[in-house]
Amino acid sequence: MTKIADTFYFDYTMMSAFLRCRFYYYFRHIRHLVPKVTSAPLSFGSTWHSATELLTKKKSLAEVQKHFTTVYTNETKDQIRTPEKGALMLKVYEEKYRNAPIKFLYTETPFAIHFPDNIILCGRMDGIVEWRDGVYVFERKTTSKLGITFFEKFELNYQIDCYCLGCMELVGACNGAIVDVARVCKPAPNMNDDFVRDVVSRTKDELVLAKKNMIEIVEDMRHGPIYQNKDACMLYYQKCQYHDLCMGACDERIVRASYETSKWDCSHGLKEKAEDAQLNLFKGEEVERKKTLSNSIIEIDTVK
Ligand code: SF4
Repeated sequence: MTKIADTFYFDYTMMSAFLRCRFYYYFRHIRHLVPKVTSAPLSFGSTWHSATELLTKKKSLAEVQKHFTTVYTNETKDQIRTPEKGALMLKVYEEKYRNAPIKFLYTETPFAIHFPDNIILCGRMDGIVEWRDGVYVFERKTTSKLGITFFEKFELNYQIDCYCLGCMELVGACNGAIVDVARVCKPAPNMNDDFVRDVVSRTKDELVLAKKNMIEIVEDMRHGPIYQNKDACMLYYQKCQYHDLCMGACDERIVRASYETSKWDCSHGLKEKAEDAQLNLFKGEEVERKKTLSNSIIEIDTVK
């Protein structure tokens, strides 16, 4: 009798960690270890996400700025990513995009897609928007470097693929993603240079191929060996957060001194299983519509 594989939930963050380095994946998603001190770029970026989401929910600029300066603690005393800089950036961002012709259909949107072999891709998009008669994923980013090639990295990018698959699953259409970037740099924020949006497209064929690749990657995540990828220890000229641990030959004393446990829930904090969360997202008559979309629209069989 064929054994049915246990259900395997994953999201882009887990897959990205695995592709970067299997030791990184092991530390973060199997041991659930995180550094005791949160790095400023990570903390600033997540607060920027929650603050700009409040703007889309029509909160006043003053409320959103207060949210930012309360939530962002700047534990490492970063000289550029200060709470005041965040508040100032929000002012310029709000002024620039106040009347942008983008309609938010959903914000902070969870999704789950059933793949073959009991695999479930979970995720949470920053938003799904309507723009020029198309439906797009809305993805926020913060960066310290915003050059002319910044957006090219989203052309072949699993995060965008995952979210576009989720968008297809949830609303039955997806033209691609609008990437909304804010640059955090030393001078006062500039409306033209530091806040940029661009569009990346995805075709159905691209998403089918992405799905096929993801299934292969998950197979490796489930059953493949765990080893160090030392070529990824200084990615983007920054030390991996597990650098000290690997330097110390994974000594448990380093774990106890510098790391704490934080379980990564790829269904993103929702109490229900991620697939049920989709139904909760859609209220009233929309639940019926969602039920008709309960199986993944993109079929793997169509890949030649
Ligand atoms: S320090 Fe290097 S080998 Fe260790 S987890 Fe990070 S990327 Fe992998």
